Amino acid sequence: MISMDKIVSLCKRRGFIFQSSDIYGGFGGFWDYGPLGVELKRNVKEAWWRDMVSGHNELVPPQGAPAAFDMVGLDSTIVMHPQVWKCSGHYDLFHDYMVDCRQSKKRYRHDQVRGRWVQFGDQKVFVATAAEGDLEQEDVQRRALKYFRLRAKDADRLSYDGGLRTLDTVDELNRVLGPDANELGTLTEPREFNLMFKTTVGALGGEEDTAFLRPETAQGIFVNFKNVLDSTRVSLPFGIAQIGKSFRNEITPRNFTFRSREFEQMEIEFFCPPDQSQQWYRYWRDRRIHWYQSLGLAGDSLRMREHAEAELAHYSTGTADIEYAFPFLDEGEYGELEGVAHRGDFDLRSHMEGKLDPKTNPLRLELDETGKPRHRGSGRDLTYRDEASGERYVPHVIEPSAGADRATLAFLCQAFTEDEAPDEHGKPQARTLLKFHPRLAPIKAAVFPLVKKDGMPEIARDLYGELKRNFAVFYDEKSAVGRRYRRQDEIGTPYCITIDGQTVQDKTVTLRDRDSLQQWRVPLAEVATEIKSRIAAV
Ligand code: ATP
Repeated sequence: MISMDKIVSLCKRRGFIFQSSDIYGGFGGFWDYGPLGVELKRNVKEAWWRDMVSGHNELVPPQGAPAAFDMVGLDSTIVMHPQVWKCSGHYDLFHDYMVDCRQSKKRYRHDQVRGRWVQFGDQKVFVATAAEGDLEQEDVQRRALKYFRLRAKDADRLSYDGGLRTLDTVDELNRVLGPDANELGTLTEPREFNLMFKTTVGALGGEEDTAFLRPETAQGIFVNFKNVLDSTRVSLPFGIAQIGKSFRNEITPRNFTFRSREFEQMEIEFFCPPDQSQQWYRYWRDRRIHWYQSLGLAGDSLRMREHAEAELAHYSTGTADIEYAFPFLDEGEYGELEGVAHRGDFDLRSHMEGKLDPKTNPLRLELDETGKPRHRGSGRDLTYRDEASGERYVPHVIEPSAGADRATLAFLCQAFTEDEAPDEHGKPQARTLLKFHPRLAPIKAAVFPLVKKDGMPEIARDLYGELKRNFAVFYDEKSAVGRRYRRQDEIGTPYCITIDGQTVQDKTVTLRDRDSLQQWRVPLAEVATEIKSRIAAV
């Protein structure tokens, strides 16, 4: 099992990911990407954009697609008209339940506080913990011993009633020992907490000036549906794609970048005629999991989880999560990388007519106590007219919604490998490497002169300059060549090129492969083509 601590420490040590505002002690839920991390994440986003949007051929149906289709891009704003969030449902419904601790002043997400009934003598308390995975039971026992003033060797004097469970099943809050409390009954009842960050637009600052940072990029696409349709030649079916920052005031950000408060999404809204929507749903679900596989996520670590009917919103006839077995999760647990949802006409109709009630089937306007629409729509016509049949309808939508940070983290976890490789004397040495797919590797190749003399640095610098025009390259002439190889392995550089004595004579260089450790000679003049073809071929 790969340790998450090692990955986090490599990320910091080599400049992939730092905690935000580190010099001030960090800021929970916010992360900065360092020089290598920014390249890695850009490569993830660029691979997505190229594979889904710019490299998409609208004339030829991709494999498995019901028909040919258009894909276009969009970049909408982070702050939008507040009505957008009222009609999308986020204003009323986008919340988690939280509990507060009156003693420690800490706030927890309700579903993340778990615990167990622990008995000592005739006293019985519910010991809650916010620890994760394997640490939960350990934490419960440690705190129970402390609460009952027992020593570690007295652990067998405690008895447990039932297993670990969430607070849902516990109604006696006065007998609960909160995760960071040392007395009973300090947790509050669960309360709703909206996850949207609020901000104020304009100088007046009244309640009517309140706006929100978007919690998803998708709504920017829906509200621009008509603009795109009217300004381009696209016709149904077609997709609009967007990459951008989203913000959620997560109550308990955790697991490195997995649950952040500021993150990036890569979302597609795919508009299609209602009677074709099931086929398109299946197409996108399958295409998206293949995308992760094509970039190296493989085997049992990656899976698709189709939601059961009971889990679906009324407007959805299908939702599947693409999930990855992140190392910080328990054995057999998976975390969401992307959700692919059939959203019917819920979003476009809500922005047109007013907030629809997701609990009614067929969908109806949601009304307030006085019988008026709860949130008015734009009143704009967001229907589509089919040129061939003359039919007018509200398109159905398939939404593949991915997180750029979660994908980047999954690629990092999958790439992290520890093995042994012989050093320059042939002795096996432990090595850490990141086996990134070459498309994702932050640096594609490193150029080393074997020694800093005999004309080698000059040739190496010229080669570096030439390669740099094609892809990201690193130049290193410091320390023993074995050490230089290892430094590149650790950041996932797939190829290293060494200029040695033979280069000076016959104009060939040594090329070394990160994963197989194979080395072979290539003419200096062919290095760029060789590496380019290898990067493209994998
Ligand atoms: P979760 O259940 O894990 O909170 P979600 O179902 O709310 O996720 P969606 O609303 O479907 O997530 O968002 C689409 C994608 O955006 C997710 O699959 C994930 O990759 C990413 N994402 C959502 N919330 C976060 C977050 N707090 N930090 C990082 N990425 C996120």
